Amino acid sequence: MRSILIASQKRPSLCLILAVLLGLVLLFAASRIQAQAGPGETVIQKATQQFENAPLKTITLGNGLFIFSGDGGNITAIADDASTLLIDSGIDSRVTELSGAIYKATGRPVARLANTHWHFDHTGGNVYFGSEGVTIIAHENVKKKKRMSSVQDVPFTGIRDGRYPSQALPTVTYSSSMALHQGSQQLTLVNYGPSHTDGDTVIYISPANVAVVGDIFSNHVYPIIDLASGGSIDGMIQSLDRILAQTDEQTKILPGHGPLATRADLKDYREMLVEVRQRIKVLITAGKTIDEAVAAAPTKGFDAAWGDGYVTPEVFVRMVFSSLAGSGSAGR
Ligand SMILES: [Zn+2]
Repeated sequence: MRSILIASQKRPSLCLILAVLLGLVLLFAASRIQAQAGPGETVIQKATQQFENAPLKTITLGNGLFIFSGDGGNITAIADDASTLLIDSGIDSRVTELSGAIYKATGRPVARLANTHWHFDHTGGNVYFGSEGVTIIAHENVKKKKRMSSVQDVPFTGIRDGRYPSQALPTVTYSSSMALHQGSQQLTLVNYGPSHTDGDTVIYISPANVAVVGDIFSNHVYPIIDLASGGSIDGMIQSLDRILAQTDEQTKILPGHGPLATRADLKDYREMLVEVRQRIKVLITAGKTIDEAVAAAPTKGFDAAWGDGYVTPEVFVRMVFSSLAGSGSAGR
């Protein structure tokens, strides 16, 4: 069983304190874990608590499509007469539960798994499925840049990850786009260049008219921009424009995190990113430091709708500021 490293685990005493604090939170406020999150908690600590404790939900979309949510990033399954094609695999500690839910929903074994990108909450189940002989598909940069086979730090989050065993790694990769068929559904896998990471895959499913867009879109949670993996705020906005051009008002858009969305929701998210980017650009042009930018609260007006997730307004501002200022490694 692989588990991701948290940067603070390098210091045993701090680790112990955090473990005790976590235990107390779980003991006394199990139903309000998110609300009890302390100010010093990192993105990874908050996200892991959530992903390990949220109920695993199954949504039936019809046409053999199912969505699973709760155990990390959102997961899609597409069943045909013989097998199931899976998009993303959740966190590693809940893969047995996920696998059971997939089989209960589809009645078909998983034969292929496509990852929207390399992050632990989308690829944690890869070890399990890869060990079962499932073909794993991802953008070529996941493999070329060794995102899963060497240690990776995600700035501002506390995530240190990437040493996956070989059976978890993609065995099929593509460069700009790739077509797959699963029963009556055609899947088009597309990479729009560096965005959330430099190995993002958007998957259009037709005729079901579903777009699985991974963490380029977090629905009502501020997103992570993985600057060390080639992500950028401008790349995310450019990818959103490409997705908006490929979808219509009826398209069901599945974000990496948060509920199933519409094109209108995606537009709202794009508007938020564009406005926050613009406000931070003004602060950078005025010569403000990253701390001064945080103090200026450039996410004001958006926090009620977007700031309640594991990426706090402060962390989001630091990511956008660093992306625009070209200092992606700061704050690791
Ligand atoms: Zn991600």
